[in-house]
Amino acid sequence: MTPRPAFNICVLCGSRPGSDPAYIQAAEALGVALAERGIGIVYGGSSIGMMGHLADSCLAAEGYIEGVIPEALFLKESAHPRLSQRFVVQSMHARKTMMLDRSNAFIVLPGGLGTLEEAFEIITWAQLGIHAKPLAVWNVAGYYDELFTFLQKSIAHGFVPAAHRKFVAVHSTLDETLNHITQWKTPTTLAKWLDRDQT
Ligand code: AMP
Repeated sequence: MTPRPAFNICVLCGSRPGSDPAYIQAAEALGVALAERGIGIVYGGSSIGMMGHLADSCLAAEGYIEGVIPEALFLKESAHPRLSQRFVVQSMHARKTMMLDRSNAFIVLPGGLGTLEEAFEIITWAQLGIHAKPLAVWNVAGYYDELFTFLQKSIAHGFVPAAHRKFVAVHSTLDETLNHITQWKTPTTLAKWLDRDQT
């Protein structure tokens, strides 16, 4: 079995495949790219939708992928039977906390309400200084365009400090997304991360 790598990325993505084939192609490309780079994947543990394509492509490329799935979703989200490692937890909150603890960075692919909820919780935890790990959105086929237009509006209307825009990096290609993560320099102090003096 592939040993757990030193660097692991949590991938957040849909439990459905979406309507554009570009979405599952992206999930598969990411699974292979991380496996080839010796980077481990932490994800929600499902075998369906984008999550299933991510896991199957990573495993086919002999990569490392671990799943964190709540007991209540084990059957509903068809827990993947062949992961490098699987954790069954008691709640959605336990899942997110464990995914945060076990990963060094986050990549968000297209997904639905669950993906949005998870991504925004990670982003707001960064805003609160709970972690200083990078999060990059791979905006496949412009799927998240309107969301980021809205985020700009939130900044323009004074609800989100402009400095906090850095907690979300948006990229249109896989290479840019991976470069963002690998070139990330973790801030040395919490104040620097939060830009407290600028907000
Ligand atoms: P979706 O994007 O709706 O297909 O969901 C993607 C993943 O997010 C699925 O594994 C869901 O179980 C998960 N999810 C949905 N809601 C939550 C939540 N409140 N906390 C953590 N994970 C969630």
